[in-house]
Amino acid sequence: MRIGVLSLQGGFAEHISSLTKLNAEAFEIRKKSDPIGNIDGLIIPGGESTVMRKLLIDTELFDPIKSLIRDGLPVFGTCAGMILLAKNTADNPMGGFDGIDITVKRNAYGRQLSSFMIEEEFADIGRIPMTFIRAPYITTVRSDVRILAIVNGTKVAAENKNILVTAFHPELTEDLSVHQYFLKKILMNKAYFR
Ligand code: GLN
Repeated sequence: MRIGVLSLQGGFAEHISSLTKLNAEAFEIRKKSDPIGNIDGLIIPGGESTVMRKLLIDTELFDPIKSLIRDGLPVFGTCAGMILLAKNTADNPMGGFDGIDITVKRNAYGRQLSSFMIEEEFADIGRIPMTFIRAPYITTVRSDVRILAIVNGTKVAAENKNILVTAFHPELTEDLSVHQYFLKKILMNKAYFR
């Protein structure tokens, strides 16, 4: 499977490493001429969502990625990636990809808890380690969205037909199960659309 990893900023190298361990063909997407039309899925990493958005506009990658998402491309966003994929942000409107009908609150755990690790249940997987870094959480989900994980009463992972989002960083642990979940989701999507 060919997975593009948006590599403008943030934790893209760790995602590429997780995908490579799962024998997926992972490569960086940095500029318009990179083969985004020829991928089975895309990962949008953590980092800083406003900076990443600006770089997406500057590189002219924003619009083509937005149309691919609208056409059903499977995309996995972690942390800042989740913020960019959400339909709404609770604070300032972000103007993101509008990929999944959720509202997220940025830096939602406040200063005290800005970074933490915890083990919690993830739907269909079981207990996994979750690393949070200045993370958002999901405040509202709408009809076609399934919640996949809850930590201390806050929703931290969700999916719809083609989008998967986590507030935490699976790429920063040795556990590959969420990446594997994404690869399975791609295969299921393909079977569905065929
Ligand atoms: N706080 C960052 C933002 O608002 C996200 C942090 C992360 O991706 N680790 O974009």
